[in-house]
Amino acid sequence: MNGSTFSSAGFKILFVLLLSWQQTFGQEKPIMCGTSDSDAPQQIKHLMSRLPAVMASQKARTAAEEMRLCRIAVDIDSETYVKYDRDTAAIILKVLGNVEKASKFFEREANIRMVVTSIRIFKDDGVDPYAGVDNVHPMLTVLVNRNLSDFNFDKRVYLYTKPVFGGASGVAFIGGVYNVSPLEHNGTLMHELGHNFGSYHSNNCGWPGGPLDYCGGAEGDCYDKSSENSTKGSLMSQCGGTAGQPLHPMIQAVIKQHAEVNFPKIESKPQSVSLVGDITAIKGDFYSWPVSLNASSYEFSYSTDPDFVGETISTTALNGIHLLKQTRGSDYFVRVKAINSFGSSEWSNTIKNQDRPRPA
Ligand SMILES: [Zn+2]
Repeated sequence: MNGSTFSSAGFKILFVLLLSWQQTFGQEKPIMCGTSDSDAPQQIKHLMSRLPAVMASQKARTAAEEMRLCRIAVDIDSETYVKYDRDTAAIILKVLGNVEKASKFFEREANIRMVVTSIRIFKDDGVDPYAGVDNVHPMLTVLVNRNLSDFNFDKRVYLYTKPVFGGASGVAFIGGVYNVSPLEHNGTLMHELGHNFGSYHSNNCGWPGGPLDYCGGAEGDCYDKSSENSTKGSLMSQCGGTAGQPLHPMIQAVIKQHAEVNFPKIESKPQSVSLVGDITAIKGDFYSWPVSLNASSYEFSYSTDPDFVGETISTTALNGIHLLKQTRGSDYFVRVKAINSFGSSEWSNTIKNQDRPRPA
């Protein structure tokens, strides 16, 4: 689905625009985000000109509370792999937790549910295309040009932990597929996703009626206000705003419009999960299972009985759970069920977890 969102020729054009913009990108003021409206595709500019009408038609629709699904693929570099002590489960937990937090925000503000469909972790004993790249613009170039065999995503994100140079810590294509964000600053990921969902900065001159705030100064050639008019930052402001605040209605309208055009509605209960093979775990390990696309939460059940007599069920928002409560010293059986507002899936297949002694 949505093949056109990540394979259109438009992105090649965008990319050329970005390259030419990079060369003229000045260092006058350090900003957190390197995204510029000059790389916005024509349809975003067109949308801005008819935004009041779009907002009116969105209001007129009564069934506005519909959730749409955005699939996220993540790249992690070898430096992060080493930083997390080569513990892929710890990295997966961090990524899932961050995307879930971002999803909760965009679910509330724009009816977009995000799920992670893949996490590619480059290891230090293999080839890492991001090795030695320490500026977000070239990092974005690497991300865009990666050879992929799996296109099960709508947005693709490179989450890094290394120090970067050049004045920006994140960058995104406005209305596009790709963004680069720091793994350990979730506000930036949410901001860059806001760009991917079609939003300019809130202080951009391109909004109907001018900038929505002046946080970070006006972006463009429209600045005619005194500095007293500066407002507090919001998620999409260029000065680094508070991530949890509600979106401005115009930003909300742009993002909802992007979702309606690009993401399918969630209209049925989730498919059941297929668990892959038996596991060996110690108490406290983070166990993750393949995502069920339409799920908004999961039930994780375990029991020492293969028929799940006396089973213990935990609910989790993530497609994974810390194995904390299970009895040590005995094997147990595990199954998972996916849930959303339409109902729940069947139970997954059953796998066995074998308790492994904690390493000395
Ligand atoms: Zn930005």
